Amino acid sequence: MTDEKAPLTLQHRFGQVLTRLEQGARQCQRPVPALLAVSKKKPVEDIRTLYRLGQRRFGESYVQEAVDKIQALSDLDIEWHFIGPIQSNKTRTIAEHFQWVHSLEREKIARRLNDQRPADLPPLKVCIQVNIDAEDSKSGVTPQQVLPLAKALKALPRLSLEGLMCIPDATPAPDQTDPFQRLAALAEDLKQAGVPVSTLSMGMSSDLETAIAAGSTLVRVGTALFGAR
Ligand SMILES: *Cc1c(COP(=O)(O)O)cnc(C)c1O
Repeated sequence: MTDEKAPLTLQHRFGQVLTRLEQGARQCQRPVPALLAVSKKKPVEDIRTLYRLGQRRFGESYVQEAVDKIQALSDLDIEWHFIGPIQSNKTRTIAEHFQWVHSLEREKIARRLNDQRPADLPPLKVCIQVNIDAEDSKSGVTPQQVLPLAKALKALPRLSLEGLMCIPDATPAPDQTDPFQRLAALAEDLKQAGVPVSTLSMGMSSDLETAIAAGSTLVRVGTALFGAR
């Protein structure tokens, strides 16, 4: 990129997001969540810029684009998170290149990731994606399917169940309770059932404060960091 202002803009936005996280956490006396920088459709130079500023966790949604970036940035100590829909024919690539998967929703996919995780890497950290607002268009399991899938994952030693993830309906019905509170309650149910998880992957650019108030431990932020896609 030849535009010398771009890195400054990114730096400025990064500072704004960190401030939002700190203020959001302070307001409800919660711990500051981890920041996952969602870099899909953004160039590797932007990732390098944020890395130089101290950001280490990056999230990608498209397998081929992600692998190209991971290879181009192999000199950096980045923790890569896969957050997009998973097709069966992409599980090997995901198992080989990522440390985290947030979008697990099918046992069959889980088994493939488990079987294809290279032996020299630690277990792949996974979150179960929950279709918290039961939207037809959204990925994720129903709330009722969370516990059965969580239990099935126990038999897969190359996966490590870390938590739950959701993407709430952007235009919620007025009578609905906070979807982030409902995801947190599901994590509490898992704990009661003897399958405790420590990660609540919830909150994006427009709603991270609400997510933090409900106990988010990791927010996934794209637009507020990198600008519009
Ligand atoms: C794109 C994406 C994000 C980031 O969304 P923004 O609104 O740009 O912050 C977060 N989570 C998932 C799963 C995404 O696909």
